[in-house]
Amino acid sequence: MGTTLQIAKQGNWLWQGKEPFVISGPCSAENRNQLLETGRLLAKISQVNMLRAGIWKPRTRPDIFEGIGEPALDWLLELKKETGLKTCVEVATPEHVNLALKYDVDVLWIGARTTVNPFSVQTIADSLKGVDIPVMIKNPLHPDLKLWIGALERINNAGINKLAAIHRGFYTYDNKPFRNLPMWEIPIELKRIIPELPLICDPSHISGNRSLIKSVAQRALDLSFDGLMIESHYDPSIALTDAAQQLSPQALREMIDSLVIRKEYGSSDFENLLEKLRFEVDNLDHELLNILSQRNEKTKQIGEYKKQNNITVLQISRLRKMIQERLDYGNNLELDNNFILKLLQLIHKESIRVQTDIMQEK
Ligand code: PEP
Ligand code: MN
Repeated sequence: MGTTLQIAKQGNWLWQGKEPFVISGPCSAENRNQLLETGRLLAKISQVNMLRAGIWKPRTRPDIFEGIGEPALDWLLELKKETGLKTCVEVATPEHVNLALKYDVDVLWIGARTTVNPFSVQTIADSLKGVDIPVMIKNPLHPDLKLWIGALERINNAGINKLAAIHRGFYTYDNKPFRNLPMWEIPIELKRIIPELPLICDPSHISGNRSLIKSVAQRALDLSFDGLMIESHYDPSIALTDAAQQLSPQALREMIDSLVIRKEYGSSDFENLLEKLRFEVDNLDHELLNILSQRNEKTKQIGEYKKQNNITVLQISRLRKMIQERLDYGNNLELDNNFILKLLQLIHKESIRVQTDIMQEK
């Protein structure tokens, strides 16, 4: 897949040489005090270069807090004047674009629920013709790289060349332990196709809870992401949206200080290549463990079913067929027969252990 995207020199609109580049602010602007108090604390963190706030909230279900709308833009402008920090907001319609411009917002972003819809992205693109403002585009909800690139192209075709992509994870049927699976291979492929496109990771929406944010942020930095967008609220326990994943400004500061910034390039070509390959192997190992955990879940469900229906844990005929089928499959992938056999035996042994435990539960 190629693209003809015309992009401004990497990130020169985005950061001022501070590392890592961090965008932070509440999931939603809830009231003037919450926004100003949070923003003032964030402005004291040197790595925070831009403030975010959700003004209109795209909610999965109706009748929950849907954002304050226009009045919150006025508070954000007040915060921008006071702190001197740039601001960014999510826009989903041309009306949002016009209001954001009216209140001097510096950067716009398109949210995951909007990127999925080319009609919506196109109407936003049309409203941006002749406007010079940077636009960041979150990945669509589901893992579809073409749709993500398509949204970037639509905005680019409207004359916007200050672009960035935000990776916020992908919704799949089983996302455990994440809220949205990172599927790192997708943003990495985006970067391979469009190397000059700044790539920002949003560990908050990938994690869904505070405890995972640091490891996701570190991983993004290790994969050479250009920046992070992290939600923060002066008191996450009373947040109206995404309470479980917001960090207090103090916790954000500690988290950022604990991140290790590694060089993308080692001192020699050898180190450089070695590091890159190691990152890729780490990444694949994580995928492997995620898959094993999903497999484990299914095995448990089968165990429950067998228990309810009085079926034995082990069925030799099924095991034989399964091993043969996997051996053939693995052969086509040029994996060693002996290795596949040992691996399958180990995995099967674990399934038997899990199901036997279920059988013995009272
Ligand atoms: C957000 O940033 O608060 C948001 C709604 O994110 P996403 O579009 O990634 O779900
Ligand atoms: Mn949010």
